[in-house]
Amino acid sequence: MFSFDNTYAKLPNRFYARVQPRTPSNPKPVIRNVELARELELDIDAFLDDAGVAALSGLRVPEGAAPLAMAYAGHQFGVWVPSLGDGRALLLGEIIDRHGRRRDIHLKGSGKTPFSRQGDGKMWLGPAIREYIVSEALHGLGIPTTRSLAVMETGDPVYRERAFPGAVLTRVGNAHVRVGTFEYFAARNDDAAVKLLADYVISRLYPELIESDRPYIELLRTLIKRQAELIAQWMSVGFIHGVMNTDNVSLAVETIDFGPCAFMDIYSPGRVFSSIDSTGRYSFSLQPSIAHLNLLPLARSLLPFIDDDRKRAIQLAQDALDAFPDTYDLAYEDIAHKKLGLYEWKAGDKDLASDFLGAVRFANADLTLSYRTISTDQPLSLKCEDFAAFCEDLGPFEDWLYDWHRRLRSEKVCSRERGEMMRRHNPLYIARNHQVQKAIDKALDGDFSYVHWLAKVLSQPFTEQDGAESLAQMPLKHEVVHETYCGT
Ligand code: AMP
Ligand code: MG
Repeated sequence: MFSFDNTYAKLPNRFYARVQPRTPSNPKPVIRNVELARELELDIDAFLDDAGVAALSGLRVPEGAAPLAMAYAGHQFGVWVPSLGDGRALLLGEIIDRHGRRRDIHLKGSGKTPFSRQGDGKMWLGPAIREYIVSEALHGLGIPTTRSLAVMETGDPVYRERAFPGAVLTRVGNAHVRVGTFEYFAARNDDAAVKLLADYVISRLYPELIESDRPYIELLRTLIKRQAELIAQWMSVGFIHGVMNTDNVSLAVETIDFGPCAFMDIYSPGRVFSSIDSTGRYSFSLQPSIAHLNLLPLARSLLPFIDDDRKRAIQLAQDALDAFPDTYDLAYEDIAHKKLGLYEWKAGDKDLASDFLGAVRFANADLTLSYRTISTDQPLSLKCEDFAAFCEDLGPFEDWLYDWHRRLRSEKVCSRERGEMMRRHNPLYIARNHQVQKAIDKALDGDFSYVHWLAKVLSQPFTEQDGAESLAQMPLKHEVVHETYCGT
C-alpha cells in the first residue's frame, strides 16, 4: 500500500535499532484519516483489507518498509537522560506525498524496542484518540503538527490503572529527528554523527540552506525562528503541550508527541493539565521560555561546525539564541493583531492585546469564546451583552471594549470586512478536553461516530457548522476536565 523510499535507514547503524513490530492478536481498523490518505496518495479502501490492516497494526511489515526505532536522548523536565529512543514506536519508512514532500510513516504502540526501558511498548485506545483529535484540531487551525493516518485496535489489553483496549496509531510527520537526537550524539562526542544528522536535516527539510556559506548557523537561525513562530501559534489558541522535553522538539518544527496536552477553556496563564507536571514547568505561559531553553542543547551540539574558531562559534550561536524572545514577540504580536481585527501597526497595540487577556483573566472567562465574541459584526453594545452568555462579570470587558473601539475607528475598514478577518483568526471550535473525553468514553463503548464527528468539525474550526453548537461551548461544571495524563 505504501511506495517506500527510505533515507533514514541508510544512515549508519548507530542512529537506530532495527526492530520488528509486535504481533497484535486481533487487529481491527477503528479510525481512518481520509483527507490525509488523499494527501499521501494512498487508497483509503486499502486500509480496510487484510494487507492494509496488517501493515497499519504491525501484523505484517509491508513491502519496502525498513522498520527501526530511532535513537535519541533528551532533557526530561530538565533532567538529562542520555538514552531515550523510540520505546514504543518505530519508523516504518518514508513516502513522498502529492506535494512532493517526504513524510515519515511511524507506528506508535507497536511493541517493545531496545529503547523501551521499563515500558511495555504499548499504547491504549484513549491516548490514540486524544492524539488523533488534537493533532487534527491543530492542523485545522493551521498550526504545524504531526498527524494521524489511522488507529487500529490490537485486540490485546494494555494495563494502566486497569485493562484498556490496546491500539496502534500511524503517525505521519515531516521527519522524526528531535533536538534529543542531536543531544544523543553530542553527549557521546560523536561529532561525525552530529554532522551527518545536521546534513540530513538540511537536505531533507531545509534544502535552501545547502548552498549557504555557513549552513549550520543558518540551520540554527532557521530553527529558532520557526520554533518561535510555532509556539506563538500555540499561545494564540490556548494550547498547552504538557511535555516540552527536548526529545519532543522536532527539527521539522511541528507539534509532536501528544501526551497530556490540552486546550484551555477558562484563561489562566499558569494553567497546567498534566498529572506529572507537579512544578508547573510546562505551564501555559512558560512555553515560550521553555522553547527557548530547549534550543540551547541543539546550538551546543552544532558548535563544532558553526565556525572553526570556538569562541566565534559560541558568539554566533549565542547571538542566534538571543534573537528568540524578540522573534517570538514579533510572531505573537502579528497573530494578536489579526485576532483583534487590526490592520496597521500602531503604538499601544501591544498593550491593547495584553489588556484584553487581562480582562479575560479577570472575568474568569473562556479564552476561545472571548476572542470569538469580539469577532462578530455587531455594534459594541451588543458585543458586550454577548459576553454575558458565558461569563458573569462584564465589568472587565467594558473598559477594554471602549479602548478597542476607539483604536478601531483609527482605521478605515468596514466592520463586516473586519469581522470576517477576525473570524478567520479566532476559532469557534477547539478540541475542548471534555469533548475529547466524551469521544474516548464513547469509543471505549465501541462507538467511534463521536470521534469522527469531532475531528470533522475541528478540521474547519473557523467556520460555523450546522448542528455543532455544543462543540463551541464551554464544559458544564460537571464536565470540566482538570487533569490530563501521558497514558504511557
Ligand atoms: P514521551 O513522554 O511520550 O515523550 O516518552 C518519553 C520516552 O519514553 C520515549 O523514549 C518513549 O519512547 C518512551 N515511552 C513512553 N511510553 C512508553 C511505553 N509504554 N513503553 C516504552 N517506552 C515508552
Ligand atoms: Mg516523546
